[in-house]
Amino acid sequence: MTIQPFSDVGVVSDARGTRIVAVRPVFLSYTYPPEHVQGWSGGRLPGITAGLVEITTDTGVTGVGETYAGVFAPDVVRAIVEYHAAGLIGQDPSNIERLWHECRSRMLYWGRNGIAIATLSAIEAALWDVCGKLVGKPVVELLGGPCHDSLPRYASGGMEADAAGMRAEATSVRDAGYLAMKIRTGVSPEADRAKAQFMIDALGPDVRLAVDAVQGTNPNPWSATQAIAAGKALEDLGLLWYEEPCAAWDVDGYAACRAALDIPIAGGESCTSPEEVQAFLDRGAVDILQPDASWLGGLLPVVRAGAMAARAKVGVAVHAWGSAGTVLANYHAGFATPACGWLEFPSQPNPLISELMVEPLRVEQGRVLPPTAPGLGLRLTPELEAAYPYRADHRYHFEERR
Ligand SMILES: [Mg+2]
Repeated sequence: MTIQPFSDVGVVSDARGTRIVAVRPVFLSYTYPPEHVQGWSGGRLPGITAGLVEITTDTGVTGVGETYAGVFAPDVVRAIVEYHAAGLIGQDPSNIERLWHECRSRMLYWGRNGIAIATLSAIEAALWDVCGKLVGKPVVELLGGPCHDSLPRYASGGMEADAAGMRAEATSVRDAGYLAMKIRTGVSPEADRAKAQFMIDALGPDVRLAVDAVQGTNPNPWSATQAIAAGKALEDLGLLWYEEPCAAWDVDGYAACRAALDIPIAGGESCTSPEEVQAFLDRGAVDILQPDASWLGGLLPVVRAGAMAARAKVGVAVHAWGSAGTVLANYHAGFATPACGWLEFPSQPNPLISELMVEPLRVEQGRVLPPTAPGLGLRLTPELEAAYPYRADHRYHFEERR
């Protein structure tokens, strides 16, 4: 059976009985125009790289997934994908959970966490994409169907910029109809408060503001005492949340912030195992968990993390920072997660978001509607690969701050 509007993705009627014939890492890079090369939370990005995995089946249907790790260490992603390819070829792509565990089993000694699992996210997502296309349904339908008619979306930006740049960004976010915006902080309590107040004024009353101290703040993380001092300076501003006030491993620091501050604490975007997620929940470290389907191991791990959060009475705001593959994987997973309350959208200019999507995001009054294209809704064509060739020098790299 062919679904008319998306006939180009090769929809067939049954996912069973097909076989994987190729697994290919693909990297696409976009070079930021000079005016968009901004300092970002202790680092600088000259451009951005999408770390993709393409899985081809004997039906001709291909699936695409993305790992956020492509932004950081594409060479490592390539090696890990190639390491798994032989074990995946010849297998039935609809055995997603089984294939995931087989991949993880190959890495138990050296890759239980970190980039090994982050890369597995792209393989898992590509398998979901294959299966969705094979049965002609969006992946969220395979995950149990959307739990939400729509979800609010926030613009994720607010890097280092001068006043004119910040005002221009706030205006564009407001005019685009976003319901919230997130900015990066982590300079000093005084500077962070001034930046947040400036953006609140520039955004106006209809757009909420969240702040992100990025592993508080990478590469030189705050102590809990410093993180609390930075939070105290923001406490009366009515912020949506205060994200990653401490180092990713400083779960007790998070808990201290949550106990000391009257601002919701958010975190967990760099977790790569349920054990890490559980540590945040067991220690009362966050009000809002931010799992990422292109980092935590895939879409199903995010849905499960959402269930863990719900049991702990913690909210969920799926993380997404990369290209279309990270955005869509997290939106499918977010819609399949009852506790999900917000979707992140990386609002830096990046054509690898719009051009890799089969259909544009459907957004009404700042709220995203569930995706409808079969699979994840991604497309990867020879033309796109030619238009955005991989640039090895576009890796994210940290700089010492001031
Ligand atoms: Mg963040």
